[in-house]
Amino acid sequence: MNNDIVIRGLLLWGSVNMTAISGKKLVEDARKAHSLSHVCTAALGRLLMQTAMMSVQLKSEMDNLTVIFDGDGAAGRFVAVGHSGGVVKGYTDRPSAELPLNENGKLDVSGVVGKNGEMRVIRDLSLKEPYVGRCAITDGEIANDFANYFVVSEQQPSLVYLGVRVDPATGEVRAASGLMLQPLPFCPDSDLAALENKAGEITKLTRMLEDGMTLEEALEKLLGELDLEITETAEPVFKCDCSREKIESALISLGREELEDMIEKDGKAELVCRFCGSKYDFTGEELNALLKEAKGSGSKDER
Ligand SMILES: [Zn+2]
Repeated sequence: MNNDIVIRGLLLWGSVNMTAISGKKLVEDARKAHSLSHVCTAALGRLLMQTAMMSVQLKSEMDNLTVIFDGDGAAGRFVAVGHSGGVVKGYTDRPSAELPLNENGKLDVSGVVGKNGEMRVIRDLSLKEPYVGRCAITDGEIANDFANYFVVSEQQPSLVYLGVRVDPATGEVRAASGLMLQPLPFCPDSDLAALENKAGEITKLTRMLEDGMTLEEALEKLLGELDLEITETAEPVFKCDCSREKIESALISLGREELEDMIEKDGKAELVCRFCGSKYDFTGEELNALLKEAKGSGSKDER
């Protein structure tokens, strides 16, 4: 059953923007696609949910958002891409990296992401030059890193919570959720204080969903007294936009020499989409057909 949802709304009489996500299926789909370890499920799951929350705000279908964590952790880079409506894809360099639980008995997300390095947010809004925001990784737990990013790079104070609960035996995702609160510039200090008081309770959100509450019920329980008003919902999904045609153009763009080399050495090719793990096989014959379309130093035009 798919209960994944993004809910957007306002708190405190319109002075705070709220975005929340329930993303159990989305994170589970990513886990299956990449055979993620327990800790990489939590890490990539948090990143994908945050990317989904940010990309529901994209206006055009042509717009997209890329987030890269380039840290010194055990799993290497983490990358996520979001499109409008909360459609996300993503990967990590070493999806099988596993670590012991941290000193708090939790999955060691900062251990696979890294506590040192850089995070980048690339907003590619159609027709304009992409906007690249960058800042240092704060603690590698992802939620704090985004909170810091919003202040440093977008001058937007934010409270960010992200949680993924993984079954210790099977690795399956039991529940996954995120919440982002962003006060608007006119938000009075007393409202900010009310939000800060909620910060501790908000960390119970994923547990509440695991216990069977819907996201809307959980938000009402956590934030109802702050005049929660829901304005919009979306259905986030883990979905890749790769296709055989796109892989073919990528092969063609390698150029004649590299293609000829591939045909000579292997007689075939198997390409794997790093965003979703889909495999694309090409026979020698198919590669030869692509070779005819490819340009390069060996092409007859240049001879
Ligand atoms: Zn793909």
